[in-house]
Amino acid sequence: MARVFNFSAGPAALPEEVLRQASAEMLDYQGTGMGVMEMSHRGNAFMAIAEAAHADLRELMGVPSNYKVLFLQGGALGENAIVPLNLVDGHATADYVDTGHWSKKSIGEAGRYTTVHVAASSEDRNYRYVPKQSAWRLSPDPAYVHVCTNETIGGVEYHWTPETGNVPLVADMSSNLLSKRIDVSKFGVIYGGAQKNSGAAGLTLVIVRDDLLDRALPACPSAFNYRIQSDNDSMYNTPATYSLYIAGLVFKWLKAQGGVAAIEERNIAKAKILYDVIDASGLYENRIAPEDRSRMNVTFYLQDEALTPMFLAEAEQLGLAALRGHRAVGGVRASIYNAMPLAGCEALAAHMRDFERRHG
Ligand code: PMP
Repeated sequence: MARVFNFSAGPAALPEEVLRQASAEMLDYQGTGMGVMEMSHRGNAFMAIAEAAHADLRELMGVPSNYKVLFLQGGALGENAIVPLNLVDGHATADYVDTGHWSKKSIGEAGRYTTVHVAASSEDRNYRYVPKQSAWRLSPDPAYVHVCTNETIGGVEYHWTPETGNVPLVADMSSNLLSKRIDVSKFGVIYGGAQKNSGAAGLTLVIVRDDLLDRALPACPSAFNYRIQSDNDSMYNTPATYSLYIAGLVFKWLKAQGGVAAIEERNIAKAKILYDVIDASGLYENRIAPEDRSRMNVTFYLQDEALTPMFLAEAEQLGLAALRGHRAVGGVRASIYNAMPLAGCEALAAHMRDFERRHG
């Protein structure tokens, strides 16, 4: 079967060039006579892979020298526990901004380790917007303020960076990391699973400011202790070697595309193609405040919801895969991460227009 346009929310589409290279190197990585999966993480070949991935990510994101980049495991949900275990010491509370499904998960997990204060929430309007910073009410001395910069299920994204002064800003960027330029220096910790914009599942990207490395609770597992992993170049235990190799290939691909600034331009154009169809239509409806719409996860509903299964089945036939909305919210969701080409969004837009002509 020909490859489809894969709109999966994650694990998600990878650049075809990356898959081809991984495939070509599967049995023999650069004359070593073995595949990357089979290598010691301490050998020269893999150490070079890890070092290049590290340097490329730092370059792509413009990570300042007072930040550590860690390649861990446990995913973003793991980080939901790992963050408080590393940061709450000496503080009575940790503050969270609740913008939907993934923020709620983060809040639930953090509550096992500290007293969570919800500084702002958009639950009052069904999570269809990002609360303005002027509406946030921080607790007196929180360990940090946690945000989810892109709610993958709802399709809500911050298009601005909160200013939290001396309070470290912690961000779950699972679904928009590397999709646009960000000023890393505004954050204390940034984390995200790799399986959307950076490669395969199993790898968690964590960027931590130096001064936050030494606050872990004694109960924090060593493999998740930021200081220990930092001192061991993320190899205190065996890292997710193959996922790290794939991420390294994705970083090189991203650099060849012109880096994060260039991919951001393309991502803006891709999202606009879909939102323009929705806004011009009487059949499709996006429910998110226009200024907070996600560029990564475009969610919409058909006015006549009974038509949704037919819309999805026809899309599947056209090679537009994995568009079904998350089971918690229904509808349609087009996840259009970095690896989704403009042509994929154009093909989906054409299907949307054609379907509306026939059923609108
Ligand atoms: N946060 C966000 C924003 C996500 O999109 C996801 C996964 N879809 C998670 C957290 C959970 O990540 P993981 O499955 O890597 O633990």
